[in-house]
Amino acid sequence: MIKKLAVCFVLIVVMAVSPAVLAQERLARGPQQGTYYQVFLRSFADSDGDGIGDLMGLTGKLDYLAGLGVTGIWLMPSFPAPSYHGYDISDYYGIHPDYGTMEDFETFMREADARGISVILDLVLNHTSTEHPWFQASRDPNSPYRDWYRWSDTGEDVNLNATSFGHRTWNETESGYYAALFWDQMPDLNLDNPDLRQELKNIAKFWLDKGVAGFRLDAVMHVYSFAEMSPGEGAPTELNLAWWAEFADYCRSVDPDCYLVGEVWDAPSTRAQYAVPLSSVFHFDMGETLARAVVNGSNKGNAFVKSMKIEYDHLAEANPNAVNAIFLSNHDQTRISAALRNDTDNMKMAATVYLTMQGLPFVYYGEELGMLGGKPDEYIRTPFLWAEDDPMLCTWIESPHNRKVLRFDAQDADPDSLLAHYRRVMTLRAATPALFAGVLEPLDQPNNAVMSYSMVVPEQTVWVLHNLSNEPQTVLLDGSGAVLFVTYEEGFAANDGSVILPPKCSAIIQK
Ligand code: CA
Repeated sequence: MIKKLAVCFVLIVVMAVSPAVLAQERLARGPQQGTYYQVFLRSFADSDGDGIGDLMGLTGKLDYLAGLGVTGIWLMPSFPAPSYHGYDISDYYGIHPDYGTMEDFETFMREADARGISVILDLVLNHTSTEHPWFQASRDPNSPYRDWYRWSDTGEDVNLNATSFGHRTWNETESGYYAALFWDQMPDLNLDNPDLRQELKNIAKFWLDKGVAGFRLDAVMHVYSFAEMSPGEGAPTELNLAWWAEFADYCRSVDPDCYLVGEVWDAPSTRAQYAVPLSSVFHFDMGETLARAVVNGSNKGNAFVKSMKIEYDHLAEANPNAVNAIFLSNHDQTRISAALRNDTDNMKMAATVYLTMQGLPFVYYGEELGMLGGKPDEYIRTPFLWAEDDPMLCTWIESPHNRKVLRFDAQDADPDSLLAHYRRVMTLRAATPALFAGVLEPLDQPNNAVMSYSMVVPEQTVWVLHNLSNEPQTVLLDGSGAVLFVTYEEGFAANDGSVILPPKCSAIIQK
């Protein structure tokens, strides 16, 4: 009975939290607001002329990022690893020798901090590299590390025919079979082992003590998976959620403001489940949905905005403090420019929409230049297009997709470039509380070519309007107030009865 009453009380409290209070909480939250920038170190900036991006190169470009309006960096895997991508970690306490030294990392952290930029690391806790000393030790059935991985001595107690991501999960060796969900070079860790659980927390503490603001967590929903579990071991989702709750609680005991964002590439209901322990999850699929609306030039019944509102509500219901991590595309997906028909007006429009919405936007490096890239993965992760003669240009791989994309120097000098547009919108977001901390509400008006919503914090309300079409559009809303942003001045007009938006124009009006 007492338990039931407690549940009722919690429900009432959750329902009573107003958007204004939520926004107030968001305002107070340090590393979880502004705009994050996702960096693949190997491709960003090279400081020592070997053609491979590194930490001192990134440090050398921090002024560029600060000027762009970046308030946080998601550093893709920075640890020693045999592969080019680094998702196969062989030492959780080190820095990849291609990327520099621990001293370089500490310098980078100091310089980022000096510019008000938070840093989160890409932590992969589902698997390690086969070259990790733990795995090497675990090949011996008598080693204490044997139980840190999912080994089967005989193969009789597991399903050797199980498959994952198009290949067999179980791999035969001289000393038994090990499970590897993603790739045979990335054996899966056994999170049932208490010593391993403790060690993963030690790793988190090591980096939090070095000043990182938190972690982007890889493969969150795969830590326990049917393909690698023995019959009767339990439900993977429950075991996953319990592990992440334990890990998140621990991280927050070290740093109460620690920001954790999970890769949960699944349905909204599943994302919401993981937002309970982690408090932030990536909003997969929104980029493609937004690109379709932008390319079609219409948003019937404000459908995209309403779909976003449903997602925010879904997350808030699961966790009132949830932060939706919004993005157009990431390192695993075809770069968004392709879905936007490689058209600068479309790219500007998609950027203005997601960079003025509730949540925490993540810009994938090079997106602000309109870089292109598709599978195989290497071509989604090609060098940032600094000037041809920039000594920091990375050359470890050549992109077949980006020969015609305007480089940084050309765009930097052009006030109408995509880069200049990203800079305008991101710096406005960073300086406008209703944008970086606001709560979204759809704004109803009958023009289907126009997307419209308000963003609200207690002390500020802004209206955001986007004309997706190639024709001028009139919006029958009260347009009075300070105009904080308009993509194109010519043909724009706002008065107390209407707003006229030129083609492909966005406007932000403070009410
Ligand atoms: Ca280098």
